Amino acid sequence: RWISRPLREVTEAASELAEGNYSTRVPVSGPMEIQVVGTAFNEMAERVELTQQAQHDFLANVSHDLRTPLTSIQGFAQAIYEGVADEDASQRAAKIIHSEAGRLTRMVNELLDLAKIQAGRMDMMRQSVELDQILTTISESLSIKAQEKNIDLQVQIPNLPRIAGDGDRLAQVFTNLIDNAIKHTPDGGRVWIRAELDTKGGILTRVEDTGEGIPKEDLPRIFERFYQVDKSRTKRIGTGLGLAIVQEIVRAHAGYIWAESEYGQGARFNVWLPQPMVDMGKTVVMSKSALAARLEKMSDGQ
Ligand code: ADP
Repeated sequence: RWISRPLREVTEAASELAEGNYSTRVPVSGPMEIQVVGTAFNEMAERVELTQQAQHDFLANVSHDLRTPLTSIQGFAQAIYEGVADEDASQRAAKIIHSEAGRLTRMVNELLDLAKIQAGRMDMMRQSVELDQILTTISESLSIKAQEKNIDLQVQIPNLPRIAGDGDRLAQVFTNLIDNAIKHTPDGGRVWIRAELDTKGGILTRVEDTGEGIPKEDLPRIFERFYQVDKSRTKRIGTGLGLAIVQEIVRAHAGYIWAESEYGQGARFNVWLPQPMVDMGKTVVMSKSALAARLEKMSDGQ
């Protein structure tokens, strides 16, 4: 009975889990081998429960975030065709419809991007990439935006060895991070972009700002889809998908991204990208299975 009872409990719990009761756990008892089974079951149940919760939250967020601009488009369009608005108000309404439709398009495009990357269907190119060139170009193009806000944009990028990756996608990563830094930094602030070769044989790029920073409780969640720190609808212009996509792209390059921040004292986003294992002249292509194994290891470690 010492052996069969705990095994029966695991069997029953497995059926409960299959029926959708994701909070099911088993007491860990019996001989050591059976205890290992019980512990493994509980760990699996915990993961299933977390995944279910994440999916549930995600769906709720998507529906909510798609509905908000739709409601506003519907309302303003009605005002125009019913003729309740004068010339000026019609102009304003049309402007709002245009901008909300733009937001919807951005959101749907970003969602498609995210889905493609996650399903492994977005072909990440493996080209020889000059990260220093990419960073310099982006910094130059965003310097205009920084100037408008009187932000001191400091760029320290040495000559770096080439890495293997998708240049356009990496440009998307750093454009997003630098754009966020400028967006969240008040007039007269400072944004640094620094890159260096690190001792572990990778390239570490940091985007740091003197902006509002991120509250401690929000910090672990900012890479989640649709997560936005400022929940007040009036201030929301983004989609909350930018950092989720950034993280997926970095992961697809077998790299890491993490954020540090002291609320009220700015934020720092770090991106670590590995260098190719062999000379890029010979073209390095990491096999899909090797990349998948590496990603799995990384997600376990985080
Ligand atoms: P959004 O479309 O809202 O910009 P992101 O995924 O890019 O979405 O960012 C998620 C949230 O993280 C943002 O709503 C913002 O509150 C916070 N955030 C991102 N970058 C910074 C930064 N440099 N400083 C402060 N907060 C930031």
